[in-house]
Formats: sequence, C-alpha cells, structure tokens
Amino acid sequence: MIISVAVRCMPSLNLKLLPEFKSLIDQETPLQQLGAALDKGTVPHALLFSGIKGVGKSSAALMFAMACNCNAAIPEGRDLKASVDHHKIDVPCGECRSCRKIRSGNHPDIIFIKPSGPFIKINQIRELCRTLIVKPFEADQRIVIISDADAMNPEAGNALLKVLEEPPDRTGIILTAANVFDLLPTLISRCQHIRFKPIGVACMATFLTREYGVDHQAAMVVSQMANGSLSKAVSMMQTHWMEKRDWLINEVIALPSRSIRMALVFAEKLSRKKDALSDALEIITTWLRDLIVYRYSKGNIINRDLKDKIHEVSQKMAIPTLLANMDAIQTAQKKIEANANLRLTLEILMIHMKRN
Ligand SMILES: [Zn+2]
Repeated sequence: MIISVAVRCMPSLNLKLLPEFKSLIDQETPLQQLGAALDKGTVPHALLFSGIKGVGKSSAALMFAMACNCNAAIPEGRDLKASVDHHKIDVPCGECRSCRKIRSGNHPDIIFIKPSGPFIKINQIRELCRTLIVKPFEADQRIVIISDADAMNPEAGNALLKVLEEPPDRTGIILTAANVFDLLPTLISRCQHIRFKPIGVACMATFLTREYGVDHQAAMVVSQMANGSLSKAVSMMQTHWMEKRDWLINEVIALPSRSIRMALVFAEKLSRKKDALSDALEIITTWLRDLIVYRYSKGNIINRDLKDKIHEVSQKMAIPTLLANMDAIQTAQKKIEANANLRLTLEILMIHMKRN
C-alpha cells in the first residue's frame, strides 16, 4: 500500500509498506496522517498512537522512524529542488544504509522503551533523558518509541513531560497506548494524536486467508472473535484456536446426554488450563448466542462454518434454556474473577448446563 500525497516541485514522500510491515492493514487514515507529516518535512516532536492491542501501532512507529531517516528521501549530492523528474519517492526504501541499520535493530538513534515488568519506571525515563542531552549520532531524526506508554507510572510520566516541554533537537518521540485515559492529560495535550481503529473483520479475514491458507469461513470466524486485534487473530491461528473451539462445542452439545460424572470430568479438564479459561467460556457463550441468533437472523451467526450444526442443535433447545445457560456462564466468570474455587465453580456450571 502506498500513501499518495500532493505532488509538488519537491519530491513527494510516499509511505511504502515493506514486507515486514505486511500486517499493517486497514489503517489508511493514520498512515495518511503520517505520510502528510513526512511530506511537510516536519516531524512532530511528540506523537501519540492510540488503539487497542494488535492494530499496528508499533509497526507504524517503526516504519515512520525508517521513513524519516531513509536516505532515498535525500539522495547524496542531488539538489532536491532540481529533482522535478522524481515527483514521488517511496520511503522507507528498506535498502539504504539507514533502513538496513534500523531493520537489523542496530541504529543508535532509534530508541525503544517498553515496560520493565508491569510498568515503565522513572529510571527508564531518566536514562532516556541522559541519552537525549547529546545530539543524535547519525540520524536526521532520532526517534524514540515508547511502547505501552500507558504503563508509565506517574513519576515516569512527569519526567517524560519535562522532556516534551523542552523537546530535544532533531528528535521525535512516539508513544503507543491502548488506554489513553491512563496517560497524564498534560502529556496527551503535548502530542499529535493519531488514532488506530480496530481492524475490520473482512480485511482481517482476507489477511488470514492469504497468510495462513485457511478457508474464508474459518478466517471470518477467527476475525470476528479477535475483536479487531490482528495480533490476537494471529495468536489464535498459531495456537490452533479452531480445533479447540470444535472440541469445546462438541463437549457442550454432548453435555445433556452425558452422565454427571462426565460433566465433572469436562469441568476438571477446563479447570486445568486456567489461562485459557476465559477464552473457553467466551467460545461457549458465542456458541449459545449463535443458537439464539440463528432463529431470527441466520446471517448474523459468528460460527458461520458450523451453520448445519447450529441449525440442528437450535431446533432442540428452548431459548429460555439457552439464556439461562448464558447467565450461568456469566455468574461463573464473575466468581472466577473474584477468586472463587475454580474447579468447584466449573463443576456447578457444567451440572447446571447438563440439566438445562
Ligand atoms: Zn531507505
């Protein structure tokens, strides 16, 4: 994808998606905004990239850092104003010295800061301040990328604010954050805010089909369950989410015809994987939702690849029963969040779902 910007006498810079940024999809507006900033030749001192996890904020930050420093934009020994034959230059080129250094993670002026443990601590920002006192070693634009800036504790946030109040020369600071409200308002007001939206289902499904070779129906299911986060969808593909979903749904379908002992065995299996439990309960809730939705609006089911199964099962289950089961799952989720006994909570849930 190339972002076109106005053609002038000066060569225009167009953001180019190198292969490593192929996951940067469905973000035309933020990329256009960044392309426009590049084209003006003025890199903002502070940018805030906001959006849920997994929508391309970090990739865009790195791409912007490369584009700002790409030597293709400033060819050696060439007068840019005379380059009327080069109206458009695609950056980052990926091949010049600067691009190669950034690609390999060896550029001294591209600085990455991320949480150390749950927080970005004041010592990390103090160290950054010491680095920013000296001029950039070689970059036209030194770029500092602070990932998950919403994990800064207040002391670190205040220390960074001082940097933004007196921005260092030839330096751009990019903050990425999922929860903007966790940032100091004074910090936000100093930044140019670029918003990354959740990735659209159709766009994400096309990406998954192309990159993972899954069929379109399965890709649509994963995309819908990923709630706009491409990194979540990719992680689902890599951890065989579809197989797990199939297993769970088959267990839930079989539950009413099984013995109490088997229902307890199912609960025990679920309790063994505490980290995956929230996902498992979400899958079951979505299945029950589909059984209800199918009666009224067949096109709006999420597990669309299981349409025949949904058709068959939805005939057999009354809507009040399905709603009661969804309520029971919600109650179990609340208890688990409140640290109730995991296995016991799941056993009660499965006995409830078996009887209903
Ligand atoms: Zn380059």
